[in-house]
Amino acid sequence: MDSKDIRAQFLEFFKSKSHKIVPSAPIVVQNDPTLMFTNAGMNQFKDYFLGNKTPDSNRVADTQKCLRVSGKHNDLEEVGLDTYHHTMFEMLGNWSFGDYFKKEAIEWAWEFLTDVCGLPEDRMYATVFEGDEKEHLEADEEARGYWKALIPESRILNGNKKDNFWEMGDTGPCGPCSEIHIDLRSEDEVKKVPGRDLVNNDHPLVVEIWNLVFMQFNRLADGSLKNLPQQHVDTGMGFERLAMAVQGKQSNYDTDVFQPIIQSIAKRAGVTYGEDQKVDIAIRVISDHIRAISFTIADGQLPGNAKAGYVIRRILRRAVRYGYTFLNFKEPFLTDLVGQLADQFKDTFPELDAQRAFVAKVIREEEVSFLRTLEKGLKRFEIIKAETKGKVIDGKTAFELYDTYGFPLDLTSLIARENGFSVDEKAFQAEMLIQKERSKSAAEQSTGDWISVISEAEASVFLGYEHLEAESRITRYREVKQKKGSFYQIVLDQTPFYAESGGQVGDSGVLENDVERIAVFDTKRENDLIVHYTKTLPKDLTATFMAKVNVQKRLLTENNHSATHLLHAALRSVLGEHVQQKGSLVNEEVLRFDFSHFAKVTEEEIAKVEAIVNRRIRENIALDERRNVPIEEAKSLGAMALFGEKYGEFVRVITFDRDYSVELCGGTHVPATGHIGLFKIVSESSVAAGVRRIEAITADKAEAFVDQELEILKEIKELLKNPADPKKAIVSLIEEKNQLQKQIDELNQQQGSALKKDLINKVEDIDGIKVITQEVKLPDANVLKQLSFELKNEVPNLVAVLAANLNEKPMLSVILDDALVQKLGLNASEMVRAMAKEIQGGGGGQPFYATAGGKNLAGLSQALEIGKKIIHEKLKS
Ligand code: ATP
Ligand code: MG
Repeated sequence: MDSKDIRAQFLEFFKSKSHKIVPSAPIVVQNDPTLMFTNAGMNQFKDYFLGNKTPDSNRVADTQKCLRVSGKHNDLEEVGLDTYHHTMFEMLGNWSFGDYFKKEAIEWAWEFLTDVCGLPEDRMYATVFEGDEKEHLEADEEARGYWKALIPESRILNGNKKDNFWEMGDTGPCGPCSEIHIDLRSEDEVKKVPGRDLVNNDHPLVVEIWNLVFMQFNRLADGSLKNLPQQHVDTGMGFERLAMAVQGKQSNYDTDVFQPIIQSIAKRAGVTYGEDQKVDIAIRVISDHIRAISFTIADGQLPGNAKAGYVIRRILRRAVRYGYTFLNFKEPFLTDLVGQLADQFKDTFPELDAQRAFVAKVIREEEVSFLRTLEKGLKRFEIIKAETKGKVIDGKTAFELYDTYGFPLDLTSLIARENGFSVDEKAFQAEMLIQKERSKSAAEQSTGDWISVISEAEASVFLGYEHLEAESRITRYREVKQKKGSFYQIVLDQTPFYAESGGQVGDSGVLENDVERIAVFDTKRENDLIVHYTKTLPKDLTATFMAKVNVQKRLLTENNHSATHLLHAALRSVLGEHVQQKGSLVNEEVLRFDFSHFAKVTEEEIAKVEAIVNRRIRENIALDERRNVPIEEAKSLGAMALFGEKYGEFVRVITFDRDYSVELCGGTHVPATGHIGLFKIVSESSVAAGVRRIEAITADKAEAFVDQELEILKEIKELLKNPADPKKAIVSLIEEKNQLQKQIDELNQQQGSALKKDLINKVEDIDGIKVITQEVKLPDANVLKQLSFELKNEVPNLVAVLAANLNEKPMLSVILDDALVQKLGLNASEMVRAMAKEIQGGGGGQPFYATAGGKNLAGLSQALEIGKKIIHEKLKS
């Protein structure tokens, strides 16, 4: 069976057992503060387990894109070195939400593996939870019983809490599990060591393929376990490992899931996969990482400097540096693999195919910039080498390479070794720890457990599409402690408050009744809960409140949200269909829209887009809002679904003119586009490779903006005495000014040479030394300087002291023939300083030329007297 077939068989099998097949959730998690990336198939169903939400179908199956590179499940360092852990992998899963439990889960898993996949029964082992005294958990005898009916007891093994008690994260749903392991070794090997001895022992050929988790508990923040309202099944099977077993391979990388990409990489590097250990690892790393990077970017997460973006950047850099060091790839290469990957997954995960050019562009830019830092880092290493006394590179330096140049420790160690050095790895780890602590304490906050006020309550009902006020009761609340004081999170049975999502900010407002009034400063989603943020808790938690949304803020926000839809459609019509939303922010002030596009949006394009949006506003198109539309129907209406969004089977469709804007959207909107009033784009910029950002304003903000611009224009016109054509008037003013400037320059020159002549005529000859001491009137300091130097050039043996009135500002200048400095011991700098006191100023310069400015114009003649005195004294002596 090829891998496509295996995937299809799995889904078909569970369909035949009355499971509904659902799409994979995006790999990037939104609205869940405990998780950055999807790390297991169950993530998207968390609320069903917790009883926050009721599923439409209580049996579900799918293949889920997972990423295990952060948090509780982090396999990054293993990837490529071993043959069965990936960063991104597909997890095949089947679920029961309060329906079937251990018996069916175990029997069906066995049936699928043996009957459908034809895997050898005697090579498979089942593990069951052996219990844990500390947690007061009993052994899972029930699961053991069902296994005993299927396989001999010798192939049923006990597992401890680490291996057989599954938890998604530090808190959340969890329970005992039963895993299925397979032994893929040769007959000879099996004879030597029985497979049961190698289960859960990190043997690359005796691996876990399927984990059947029996969800029974919720792990609370204080570490205790609480029974879930119902019992559920959550299973996860590594698709690539299953393919390895079914295809009789000994490595996930030898299956048809990886081989095509591996062959491309090997070809480009001019090597053969399977001949050199180090080269093979590098090829595996790249073939794995390109999947993680591509699918994550396609799901909307761009590489960046923080959080999820940084995780992706690190994975990309890890791939680049393996290629650089072991395959001699000095130019971007990951980017060239995107197309092949997109083709391979076209039918399973079409989001990559649909955005292949964009994803390739983003990856290319990242590669180019990292290759540059890599080179810089290598140069830096040369300097470090020269500066290091001895042969050990200290921890701080290794950390600098890591922190500034993105060099992982193993890269630094490798380069060091090649140069006959070693790295103080312990000290590096110590530096790393210091940094971790620093970033941890900055973000420190602790979230308490939910405290329920009304038991049996489910997720709250959202009334905010119709109502801005509603009668509500608190169903649960919790405290969030932060360094800067704490706040509360409150869930209501029903609420008009819109929770931040899809770029639209959360509502603020109040909860009030006759006795109290509590301000709600924000509203956010947590999976499917609508969570209201408050600084205080009501005294009576069981009371009924009027939940009132801040109407002004909401309405302004709606203008911006609807305008965003109009903008999106206009951009697609002006720039092309490649425009995809890459992010948005909509609040009461502005709208910000990020989208894929490879060039700067020109002034003309912006004008066109604005014109289209404003025309649509004037058409006053009525909102066509439809809820619970089957997703297929919505798509056939031409609705633009955003990649990276999680859509249920039924969606909300927002339409402004069926032929113009049809979007899937959960946000709130104006009843008709006329409410928006006016739309103005205020900026266009770049946010990342291939992603542009437009910021715009609407309604009274746009009006105020235009008014302000017009006001400025009006003032300008008034200054110009209201000409018929103000632009022409300004252009001729500028021309006139340039003309005048030219004339002034000429006049200054004429005046300067006339003055010069005059001064030369007045030269005093004292024993062959030519002395000029004069008060002059000049336009500026430059002219004074020029005059001084011209005098010096034309009159030999000159001492010139000029006291100038420069447009009512005093300035002194002293210039000497170079020979006189020596001969007479005259010093221009000293002289000017002695004189400057008279004009309340200061200055200096060189021995042959110095100037001084000042404040007291009336002191000029006195200053000149001092200059004369100094000269006469020197000449007499
Ligand atoms: P292992 O001990 O091998 O790391 P796990 O206990 O972390 O596996 P689960 O969390 O139970 O695995 O995930 C369910 C299934 O997903 C596993 O049985 C395995 O087939 C697959 N799987 C888990 N981690 C990875 C990974 N990093 N790459 C590929 N497949 C994986
Ligand atoms: Mg693991």
